[in-house]
Amino acid sequence: MKDTYGRKIDYLRISLTDRCNLRCLYCMPAEGIPQVPHEAILTYDEIIELVRVAASIGIHHIRLTGGEPLVRKGIVPLVKAIHAIDGIKTISMTTNGILLPKYAHDLKLAGLDRVNISLDTLDPARYHEITRCGSFDAAVAGIKAALEEKLDPVKINAVAIRSLDQDFFAFARYTIDMPLHVRFIEYMPVGNSRGVDGCGWGADDVISCEEIIAIINQKARDAGMQPLQPIDKDVPEGRGPARYYSFPGAKGTVGFISPLSNHFCSTCNRIRLTSEGMIRPCLFSDQEFDIRAALRHGDEGDVRSVLLNALAAKPGEHHEGGHARATTVNMNTIGG
Ligand code: SAM
Ligand code: SF4
Repeated sequence: MKDTYGRKIDYLRISLTDRCNLRCLYCMPAEGIPQVPHEAILTYDEIIELVRVAASIGIHHIRLTGGEPLVRKGIVPLVKAIHAIDGIKTISMTTNGILLPKYAHDLKLAGLDRVNISLDTLDPARYHEITRCGSFDAAVAGIKAALEEKLDPVKINAVAIRSLDQDFFAFARYTIDMPLHVRFIEYMPVGNSRGVDGCGWGADDVISCEEIIAIINQKARDAGMQPLQPIDKDVPEGRGPARYYSFPGAKGTVGFISPLSNHFCSTCNRIRLTSEGMIRPCLFSDQEFDIRAALRHGDEGDVRSVLLNALAAKPGEHHEGGHARATTVNMNTIGG
C-alpha cells in the first residue's frame, strides 16, 4: 500500500491503553492520566477486525504499544488472534519490560516475534527517579525474560535527555557482552512532557545523536577502546529508522534514532492507532481519523475508507524542526 508520496506503508502501531504501571518524567504526569470511560477504548474484537481490514490493504507488521501494553488484560489471546490473521507477518511490542517475566513465555507461544524494552539508565537509583516508581531490577528481569524466550532481536530504547545526565558510554558498553541492541532516541516535542514538574520539553533538553556518538567515542578512546563502527549489514531485524553501529567484536549493537536532527520522513512506513480508536498518520501532527465510529456503526468498507483517507493525508514530512511542540497529546496515548 503506497501513500501519496510513493512510500510503502505496511506497518501499524497499536496503542492498547493509555495507562501505565510507571510514570516516566518525560511521558506521563505524576498523578497518572484522567480516567477514560471504558466504552471509549477499542475492544479486542474491534482491534482484531481493524487489523484484518488493514492486512487486506497491505499492512503486514504490527507493533503493540501504549501506555504499557502489558497492563491491559487478555494480551496473550489478542496476540494469538492477530497472529492468525492472513497477511500479518510480524508482531512486535514496545514495553517497559516490568511484566515480561510474567508474560514473555506465553506471548512467544502466542506468536509475538520480538520486543523493544524502554530503559533510560543503567543506574538503579536514577531509574527509580526517571520512572518515578520503577524498579531497575524488575526491568532487567524483563530483559532477561525476553532474551530467554528469544523475543529477539531484543532492542533497548533509551530517550536521551540532556538534563537527565545519562551515561551513554556505559549503555553502549553494555552491548559488548550482551546480545542487545541499545537505541538512543532524540527527545521529541510531544505532549506535555514533564510539564507537570514545571520543566516541559525544550530544545535545550534535546541531545542530537551526533553529539551522543561523539561522547561515546571520546569516552571509548579515553578507555583505550576502538570507537563505534557504522554497520549497514547484519543490523537487527525490525521496522525502525535507526542507524546502527557496534564496537569491534561486540555481541550487540548501538542504534541512533534522530527524528529531529536528521528526520527520516522520506522512508516512513507507518501509521498509528490510539487506544480510543483514532488513526494518526504522523507522530508529529494532531490530525486524527475516527476509525472507532466506522468499526462500531459501519461495515468493512467504511473501515477500509478511514484507513485509506488516513493514508492519503499522511504528510510528506514534519516541519517542527525541533523547536515547537508537535502535538498536544502525550506519548502514552500515541505509543511512541
Ligand atoms: N510503556 C511502553 C514503553 O515505555 O516502552 C510503551 C509506550 S512508550 C510511550 C513508547 C516509547 O516512547 C518509549 O520508548 C518511551 O521512552 C518513548 N517516549 C516517550 N516520550 C517520548 C518523547 N517525548 N520523546 C522520545 N521518546 C519518547
Ligand atoms: Fe509508561 Fe512507557 Fe510512558 Fe514510561 S514511557 S510512562 S513506561 S508509557
